[in-house]
Amino acid sequence: MPPRASTDIVDLRSDTVTRPTPEMRRAMAEAEVGDDGYGEDPTVNALEERYASLVGKEAGLYVPSGTMANQIAVRVLGTPGTAVVAGARQHVVAFEAGAAARNAGIQFHTLDDELGILDPPSVSYALSLREYHQPEVSLVCVENTHMASGGVPWPLDVLAALVAAAPGVPVHMDGARLFNAAVATGVSPAVAAGPATTVMSCLSKGLCAPVGSVLAGPAAVIEQGRVERKRLGGAMRQAGIIAAAGLVALCSMVDRLAEDHRRARRLAEAVAERWPASGLDPEAVRTNLVVFPSARPVALVDHLASHGVLVGLLAPGVVRLVTHHDVDDAGIERALVAIAKAP
Ligand SMILES: *Cc1c(COP(=O)(O)O)cnc(C)c1O
Repeated sequence: MPPRASTDIVDLRSDTVTRPTPEMRRAMAEAEVGDDGYGEDPTVNALEERYASLVGKEAGLYVPSGTMANQIAVRVLGTPGTAVVAGARQHVVAFEAGAAARNAGIQFHTLDDELGILDPPSVSYALSLREYHQPEVSLVCVENTHMASGGVPWPLDVLAALVAAAPGVPVHMDGARLFNAAVATGVSPAVAAGPATTVMSCLSKGLCAPVGSVLAGPAAVIEQGRVERKRLGGAMRQAGIIAAAGLVALCSMVDRLAEDHRRARRLAEAVAERWPASGLDPEAVRTNLVVFPSARPVALVDHLASHGVLVGLLAPGVVRLVTHHDVDDAGIERALVAIAKAP
């Protein structure tokens, strides 16, 4: 079979496959730039201010990746030789190649995150262990939306209870998909991230920018974060070229995430119909991620690929479909047909 043209492919592997829009490419071509090492790139400065104001924090820091944003937060807010509380399947724990142990000298105290949230009493319990000769907790990390549970947005009341359960302990929110959470719940990003000390979001996923994430928090924390960014080799120069696409992402790509959520719901309905035993509840799919267990995951991935529909495995036996800007309704229709015919 000849290779399919890329336009023929329905790529549901990840929202990171999105390409920059024509508006982004124009903004990039016309971006005003300077040396960000001197704090003189006006486009980077505008992006950092815009993100900080959207999430209700004092200052922002533009970084090359979401992973670096998380790593900077753990280095600044965590303390070497202490425990950082986080969900066992959160990105910062499971998908950063062990970076936090290597970069920040912390160990994780992991909690069950099957439902996408952390149980506040379990956080209190982790903090109490210090009295029993166990490591002090220096930081709590949450993920909003929580990827591995299928893009679950954090409920505000549970987040408030978590913060109350950890008095005096900073909270970092990995909001790689914070804007998906905001669109799905109707809660503003500033309110959704309000209880967190720091928050980071990816511009390069559903928001379609080619590169980059932003970290925001109190001015003093972000000032230290700037030093950590340099230590990690993440300080850039005329980064306004890529930051310009990030500004377009924040200004004009957020509201359309609702379309991705609507399409993910349709995929979830098809999956639930085809495999009732998967236990997938389409009503629980509120953002752009559909995650479900499969008895024959590799056969399923191969079958869908033979129909030009690319999906991935998140873990052994766990299939993940991700909707995004570059998959339209026609692409979803093709995926639905392929799912209905799946072995
Ligand atoms: C993608 C992702 C990250 C990391 O972003 P990169 O830019 O790929 O490094 C962090 N957290 C979550 C929840 C993510 O989905």
